[in-house]
Amino acid sequence: MRFLERERAALEKLLPGLDDKLRAVPLMDLERPGSPAVGLFRACGGPGLLAPEEFQGRGAGALDAVRVQRALGSRSPSLAVATTMHHFSMATLVRLSQDGEGLEWMLVQAVASENKLMASGFAEGRSGTGILSPSMTAVPTPEGLRISGVKRPCSLARSMDLLTASVLVPGEDGGEPELAVALIPADSEGLAVSGFWSSSFLAGAESEQVTLDNVLVPADLLVRTACPPGARLDEVQTMGLVWFELLMTGSYLGAASALVERVLLNDRVPEGERVALLVAAEAAAAGVEGLARRVDEGGIDESVLAEALFVRYGVQDALGRIVPRAVELLGGLNFMSSDEVGHLAACTHGLALHPPARSRMTGPFARYLADAPLTVA
Ligand SMILES: Cc1cc2nc3c(=O)[nH]c(=O)nc-3n(C[C@H](O)[C@H](O)[C@H](O)COP(=O)(O)OP(=O)(O)OC[C@H]3O[C@@H](n4cnc5c(N)ncnc54)[C@H](O)[C@@H]3O)c2cc1C
Repeated sequence: MRFLERERAALEKLLPGLDDKLRAVPLMDLERPGSPAVGLFRACGGPGLLAPEEFQGRGAGALDAVRVQRALGSRSPSLAVATTMHHFSMATLVRLSQDGEGLEWMLVQAVASENKLMASGFAEGRSGTGILSPSMTAVPTPEGLRISGVKRPCSLARSMDLLTASVLVPGEDGGEPELAVALIPADSEGLAVSGFWSSSFLAGAESEQVTLDNVLVPADLLVRTACPPGARLDEVQTMGLVWFELLMTGSYLGAASALVERVLLNDRVPEGERVALLVAAEAAAAGVEGLARRVDEGGIDESVLAEALFVRYGVQDALGRIVPRAVELLGGLNFMSSDEVGHLAACTHGLALHPPARSRMTGPFARYLADAPLTVA
């Protein structure tokens, strides 16, 4: 079994042709703003990856999906990160369709069969605020809610057909405001996309700003969580966060694997060093795949979310050892002769920048260990 063979086989099985198409484009072209990668993903049926086959999707489970993300991350870190945001929304919609009244499965089917892309807007560019405390607010009107505010960074902003955005809505019976997710067509009146991401790292992910100015969202395109902000997560949020952590971790492991692959293909690197790097990368992958298998078993609860976070932070630490070692073994001439090695190495830092930041989870984990419910800051 060659390095990444299993992951690329999963990608070829589920999204035939995509790996070849990505391999044909130089890495730095896939990583720049306006990258062709998102379009190739769409053309190969990527939006339906997690949609069940009965809804015209590819029906991937968690294990296959995380292998696909690792394979994509090894070709284009930006594409893997951006598509994780789409799959996060899709996983949530699929879960809702299991006990919804029909709209959710119609959306799942439309996204899968028409290859539509969904962006997930949770962050609002305000440092120190958790993802579950949106400042975007909604004003009730007879036609529905009018939503205003800003989401940034919001990956896939330039290619999205649909935005899923966290919003604080008035309680249904006039009670406390509660968290909700609004589904908003990208061509809605009042929705605008503008530049936000100024770094060249992960620039192909289209993580720009989305501004909503009094955008109308009909009641049936709003999913309420019945949770006040900052409260314990409900089952759907828990499930969504587990998928998010799983696929994000697989994506960045893929970016690091692109460096490891370059080392393994380099005969001038001593065999012992190559094997040591292989062992470290595959040990991290085994942790991620163990989590994926647990997700595929079903019954996602807070213990699975805790495991997802343990695996993610563990992989973060593993990449902190693997990546500098790979750069060192590839040597100065590889680093100097193109941007690729430096770019891949820098991109792998991104895993630490997704919610929830490790330091925000110190208190919640300490309380969880003392038998309290797991909360996410
Ligand atoms: C490539 C990429 C793509 C992204 N795409 C999207 C997207 O599509 N949609 C989306 O919603 N978001 C997206 N994000 C944004 C992401 O989800 C985060 O919200 C954002 O990166 C958080 O910014 P921050 O690091 O300043 O967060 P902060 O939460 O402000 O954390 C900054 C640091 O402050 C410390 N800190 C802050 N609060 C606390 C606390 N309470 N306790 C202890 N320490 C604390 C932590 O050490 C943390 O590392 C993306 C991010 C990246 C890197």
